[in-house]
Amino acid sequence: MNFHIMTLFPEMVDYVLSQSIIGRAKEAGIINVKTYNIRDYANNKHNKVDDTPYGGGMGMLMAAPPVCDCHDAVCKGIPEGSNRHTVYVSPKGKILNHDIIRRLAEYDDLIILCGHYEGIDERAIEEVVDEQISIGDYVLTGGELPACIIVDCVARLVPGVLADSSCWEDESIASGKLEYPQYTRPYEYKGKKVPDILLSGHHENIAKWREEQAERLTEQNRPDLLKNKE
Ligand code: SAM
Repeated sequence: MNFHIMTLFPEMVDYVLSQSIIGRAKEAGIINVKTYNIRDYANNKHNKVDDTPYGGGMGMLMAAPPVCDCHDAVCKGIPEGSNRHTVYVSPKGKILNHDIIRRLAEYDDLIILCGHYEGIDERAIEEVVDEQISIGDYVLTGGELPACIIVDCVARLVPGVLADSSCWEDESIASGKLEYPQYTRPYEYKGKKVPDILLSGHHENIAKWREEQAERLTEQNRPDLLKNKE
């Protein structure tokens, strides 16, 4: 799967997505992540990409021409017939969840547009964006962290990025519940011991205990997940 990130701050995204599991998946060629600097498409002497909003108000707005020209360049580099989709990360979008992530993982080429400052001229959004997605009910200074979040969680579903699909299917949320508590060595830490059941070697009882713990935690922290399941 190919990810294309349009941003004014490519270094922010490049660094985050070159680390750990996602960085290794990139190196192995399982996913491709390419950043595009929208400023490279500013058609003026000072490489200016923003301006004051019509009608007044605080801050600066990213102008339509460099955003649309950058998007054209991204699309030109994508082979004809590829299943592509453009997302603008924005607090005005649908809130990201596992169902959206699963749907996004079906595309061959996912283009993510990052806003900054006060956002982006509405005409650019109308022109190039298929869908707006928010990562939560709060406002960040820019779309770079939301873009990294989307790439990270979509890439986890791409075959080969994790050891196998059970790595994400059995986890919190995707499983429809929160995951049971987990423990590793040392056996005792600050007076707290690992629950005996996990050392019993009795696989059936361990599975039962984990199921009960997952139900208890979900009921306590996310009862909405159990209701959705019903
Ligand atoms: N003026 C905009 C508004 O009130 O809706 C907020 C602009 S925000 C300061 C700048 C950029 O950060 C946005 O264009 C968007 O790309 C990104 N951003 C901020 N909060 C976000 C969120 N919750 N989810 C996704 N992107 C977000």
